[in-house]
Formats: sequence, structure tokens, C-alpha cells
Amino acid sequence: MTDSTIRPIVIFDTTLRDGEQSPGASMNLTEKMEVAQALVELGVDVIEAGFPIASPGDFEAVREIAKSVRGSVVCGLARCRDADIDRAWEAVRCAEQARIHVFLATSAIHREHKLRMDKDEIIRRAVAGVRRAVGYCSDVEFSPEDAVRTETDFLCQVVEAAIDAGATTVNIPDTVGYATPTQMHQVIHMLRQRVPNIDRAVISVHCHNDLGMAVANALAAVQCGAGQVECTINGIGERAGNSSLEEIVMALRTRKDFYRADTRIVSQRLVPTSRLVASVTGIDVQRNKAIVGRNAFAHEAGIHQDGILKEPTTYEIMRPADVGLTKIDLVLGKHSGRAALADRARTLGYRLDAEQLQTVFEQFKILADKKKEVYDGDIASLIEQQIVAVSELWVLDSYSVKTGTQTTPEVQLSLRRGDEVLSTQMTCGDGPIDAIFLAIEDITGIKVQCNDFRVHSVTVGKDAQGEVTVQLKHEGRLFRGRGISTDSVEASAKAFLNAINRIAAVTDDSE
Ligand SMILES: [Zn+2]
Repeated sequence: MTDSTIRPIVIFDTTLRDGEQSPGASMNLTEKMEVAQALVELGVDVIEAGFPIASPGDFEAVREIAKSVRGSVVCGLARCRDADIDRAWEAVRCAEQARIHVFLATSAIHREHKLRMDKDEIIRRAVAGVRRAVGYCSDVEFSPEDAVRTETDFLCQVVEAAIDAGATTVNIPDTVGYATPTQMHQVIHMLRQRVPNIDRAVISVHCHNDLGMAVANALAAVQCGAGQVECTINGIGERAGNSSLEEIVMALRTRKDFYRADTRIVSQRLVPTSRLVASVTGIDVQRNKAIVGRNAFAHEAGIHQDGILKEPTTYEIMRPADVGLTKIDLVLGKHSGRAALADRARTLGYRLDAEQLQTVFEQFKILADKKKEVYDGDIASLIEQQIVAVSELWVLDSYSVKTGTQTTPEVQLSLRRGDEVLSTQMTCGDGPIDAIFLAIEDITGIKVQCNDFRVHSVTVGKDAQGEVTVQLKHEGRLFRGRGISTDSVEASAKAFLNAINRIAAVTDDSE
């Protein structure tokens, strides 16, 4: 049943553009495609797939997403420059529904220090940019960058000119995370009062979380009439991130009585999508994160537990199932079939094609032989290794380490590259894992600095698999790697090699 007094809000997801700009979060093409597909299933209205002129890799990702996505608008970002806009159109033109998003900074600080342009020049460029985009595509969004710190009169002028030039959405970004909810409310209210043609465009907001107010600011804008919210899964993004999609969506849905607005997001897909994005970006979700954190629905206090058992609504304002949290950690074993695995994969948020399912199923059988009970966490790791698999230039062949207290480890390690096997033998390192890392560097010739190294168990029990994640720095860029094994030294070697392969893949591209 639809209630005509409930306003539909457009969800514009920028996980693949702003989110990908989070330090260390860069995704490869396969990972981006996987996330884009998950966003479609989540019911996102617009997917900002990237910034096509930024790099050939960005361009290719946007184009591939545009080709494959059905049911959501695919958007490419561009500065107000001809070359940017042409490139963005080239990337999104084969989309079922395409959008070009052009932006130009308008605040005094940006005008004077970054662009060195006066107000008239800004308006001229904004209008020219929007017109060029409109020449290609009827769905055009314009953003005055740093809008919240722009003089109000000038902001009104720019917005009016952009709409006159054909922009169908005007996005008001709080680029630096400076706004407060009341201020955001005032800005949107002012635009609605003072811009004469404002009814011809959808008002959007894009809020950063530098002061922890991104979600509150976006909701204040919605309350005042904004019709689109830009956000990301898990709130990832530049610096402290963006407003988080899951919080916006559940705030509107849970408090529909107050906001009188809702989205078409399939909320049951929130937790699976969050899990996928955390795994491909390597940015974990904090435990106490609203909606998707591990503790979001965990009631610890005895009085609360008692209340929940008597009547869930005593302490629960949302049902865990509504956000896709499956309470039952279903256990599979070696007699479980392919259909059970496929079903579990889908519940956990993954889409596998027939070939991927076959590979994961084979690995699942091997694991089920080693381990009696296979948990959701195990299955998720097996799948993630498949979907985030980078082209593996180097493969671990074998290793052995001799180590002990007060001795320098002796390591022997072999890697395969195509048909070749390369080996090294070294006495080095501060322990077995360090020794293995040094041996891998020695063979591959790729020198790195290890910024982060973490080990955690995927599930419970003594035979649980260990997952190692590393973050390596190579020529100023960060690369992630993960490895899983029931042996933590082997998991470490695999994680390190996974990051090395990512570095090798990038270096190959540029050559
Ligand atoms: Zn941003």
C-alpha cells in the first residue's frame, strides 16, 4: 500500500567514487563490478561509478558498470571542463539510464586560492559545463563544490543559472564537513524560497562527516524538502567519510511518521552489502556502528534482555531481520550440497556465477574435510577470496622456516610465476613471518613497507581458520592483501603475496 503523503527520496550511492577515495580503499575492476551489482540488488536509484577522467582504470570501471547495470542510473563525475565531460559521457553512454554529474567550486576560499576565478567566471563555466553535459544526456546533476561555505546570494545565483542551463538535479555539498543540521536546514530552505526555478530540479545533499554530523545534516536537508541524498555504504569516503547509506535509509524508514519520506531500498540487503564493501575495501565496520555493526542488535543488560524476551519492541526499534541480519549462523558440513552452499552465499550477500560456485564448492569440500563444522564466516571468506581474486602473477609454491628463541630465522621459500619456479634461501628477519616477507620481497623484487598487519580468526573453535590482512606501502600508494588458512604463518604469506600481486597488477598496467 502506498501512502501519497510519503515523499520518495532518491538514494545516490557514491561508494564507488567518494568511498573509493578513502585512504587504502581502492578497488580493482572485479571488485567494483561486484559492489555495483550488490547496489542494484539493494535498490539504489543512482550509482556514481567513478570519475572517468581520473585514470584509465576509472574510465574502464565506469564503462563496464554502465554496460552491465540494469535498473539503476549510472553516473560519471566530471569537472566543468570539456575534456572531463566528454570523457564522462563516453564512459556512461551505453548505460540503460545515464547521468553526468558536473561540479565546480563556488566558495570564496576555493575561488580565490584554488581556481583563481571571479564570480562571473564561475557562473560562465558552470553554465557552459551543464550545457555541454545536457547536449549529451537529459539527466544532468550540478554541484557547487563547498556550497555550505559559499555566500548565500552567490549560491542562489549559481544554482539558478545551472537549472536554467538544464541541470535536473542540484546537489548541495558540505565538502569539508563544516555544516550543522540547523544550518543545513536553513540553506535548503533559503534555496527553495529564493531560487525562482528551483521546482524544475531535484535538490540533493552530499555531507561529509568531519564533525560526525553527516547523517544528521543530510536528514535535516530531507526534512526541509531535499529529494536526493548522496551517501556511501558504511559511510566510507574522503577523510572521516560520508553520510552512511544504511543509517539514512533506516532513519527514514523507522521514523517515517516524522520525516514523511522513504526510499525504495530493500533494507534486508543492508547487512550483506555492508559486509561485502568492508571485505573488498579492507575497511572494517566498528562494532557499535548503527544498523550494521556487530553489536547493533546485541542486548547485554539483564533488564534489557528480560524485556526483549517478553516483548521485542520494549528495547528494539528495528527488527534485526529488517536489515538483513540473520540470527542463525547456519552450520554446513561435508555432506551439504551445492544448492545449500549457493543458498547460503546468497543470504550472506554474494552472487556467484556457475563457475565461481563450482570453485567455491570444491574449496568448501576441502575445508569441510579439515574442519567438522563450516560456519557463515568460513563460507564468506572462501567466496571473498574468489571474487576479489587479483590476477595472480606470483603464486606461493612452498616454504619452510626454522626458528626459535634467540636465533635468526632460516627461511626457504619458492614462488611460481607462470611455469617458472623461483626460490630463495635466507637467514633474516625478526621472526618467521618477517623472514617470509623478506624472502618474498627478495624473489619478486618489489620493495614495500608494511603499515598494518592483523590476524583474526574467521569463526570459533580450535580448528578455526585464521585470516591475515596486511596493508603495504609501495611508492607512496597503499595496497591491501588478505590470506586465509588454518595455519597462521601460511595465511600471513598468502596475505603478503596477495598485496604484492596487487602491486604487480598496477605496475603492469602503467607499462
Ligand atoms: Zn565527497
